[in-house]
Amino acid sequence: MDFALELNGEQRALKETLREFAEAEIAPHAAEWDRSGTFPAPTIRKLGELGVMGLPFPEAYGGVGAGLISFALALEELARVDSSVAITVAASVSLGGAPILAFGTEAQKQRWLVPLARGETIGAFASTEPGMGSDVQGLSTSARQDGDGWILNGTKAYITNAGTELSSFVTTTAVTGERGPGRAEVSTFIVPVDAQGFAPQRPYEKMGWHASDTRELVYQDCRVPADAPLAERGAGARVFLATLDTGRIGVAAMGVGLAQGCLEHSVRWANERCAFGHPIAKYQAVSFELAELKARIDAARALVFRAAALRDAGHKVTEQAAAAKLMASELAVHAANVAMQVHGGYGYMEESAIPRYYRDAKILTIGEGTSEILKLVIAREMGLAV
Ligand SMILES: Cc1cc2nc3c(=O)[nH]c(=O)nc-3n(C[C@H](O)[C@H](O)[C@H](O)COP(=O)(O)OP(=O)(O)OC[C@H]3O[C@@H](n4cnc5c(N)ncnc54)[C@H](O)[C@@H]3O)c2cc1C
Repeated sequence: MDFALELNGEQRALKETLREFAEAEIAPHAAEWDRSGTFPAPTIRKLGELGVMGLPFPEAYGGVGAGLISFALALEELARVDSSVAITVAASVSLGGAPILAFGTEAQKQRWLVPLARGETIGAFASTEPGMGSDVQGLSTSARQDGDGWILNGTKAYITNAGTELSSFVTTTAVTGERGPGRAEVSTFIVPVDAQGFAPQRPYEKMGWHASDTRELVYQDCRVPADAPLAERGAGARVFLATLDTGRIGVAAMGVGLAQGCLEHSVRWANERCAFGHPIAKYQAVSFELAELKARIDAARALVFRAAALRDAGHKVTEQAAAAKLMASELAVHAANVAMQVHGGYGYMEESAIPRYYRDAKILTIGEGTSEILKLVIAREMGLAV
């Protein structure tokens, strides 16, 4: 088993490039984007020029062909300074581009994947509805055939990347019939953002991820053409589950990056801040907490790399991706809490970066499978009769 976890030259270079880019072009603006809810489109375009928006996609489709380990490294570096930028990239690549690469026709890949991989556009995936998130069989958005096209009706909730100036399409799950008593036939459709009857609503007011675009989407007699279905009719659940496996590796990498950012802020502060005549790092209550955090970050990162390496080698990673996301997202919440405690009163001030990390961490335990659903997935893979 090759599990040295030694980055190769290309991966090291990518990590360094993104560290520099994140420090120079993102970190100085992150607080302001967060405060004003500004979607940083020019930064996303620049990440496209660096190849980040197409890292795991083949060169033939505008990508870099670098694999999921590189993608995880990139997301870690971005989330280390700004989770909103990281989730914009993660959602476009994992939820927007990856299903088109895996299930799209050649024409769909050329039309939707190539500009996305170059960072000229971003993509979205809409499964969640106002009445349903974890229970994907509870879908109520419908699609019916009409002439040579399809008509969609329904509402999607909490969808990332659907309403920005870069947004180009939203892959949408919809019921197209019945598979048997009480079992919906679910299909997926690539809905262009300029489709007739498609209406992204105003951005939500969220607890965190303020610079990431999240909206409710209304489909009212939304007409899409004959080439809109992604994969064959009834394959929606398969498309969705495959999308989640890679998506969860990305969210897990974001958890590692956010925790790493919290750790670095805390180490700096612990060495600078004095109490009772010494830097607070001198007190083991502080230094042991940070030492343990470092060990837990290393463990979560190893889980992310394991899932990414297995996926790159073509293996099914349902359990490994769920485990990586479960551990890394819960760790991110813990790390933000530790960072705030170590910073004391200053950590509660918006002037420090800590409240932003704190607000951005929690969603990682909810999106793309809550922690409870991830445990359900792992339990099933273990053969438990859940
Ligand atoms: C900022 C943000 C961005 C998002 N982006 C997207 C996106 O781009 N695309 C998209 O489709 N969705 C998106 N979502 C939606 C997200 O994936 C869902 O919120 C998530 O899957 C949980 O679904 P829910 O909110 O309906 O919660 P529910 O499914 O209603 O769950 C509520 C609670 O019940 C628990 N629960 C439910 N079922 C079980 C069970 N069987 N056993 C144990 N516990 C259970 C859950 O773990 C949770 O704690 C986003 C959400 C947010 C907040």
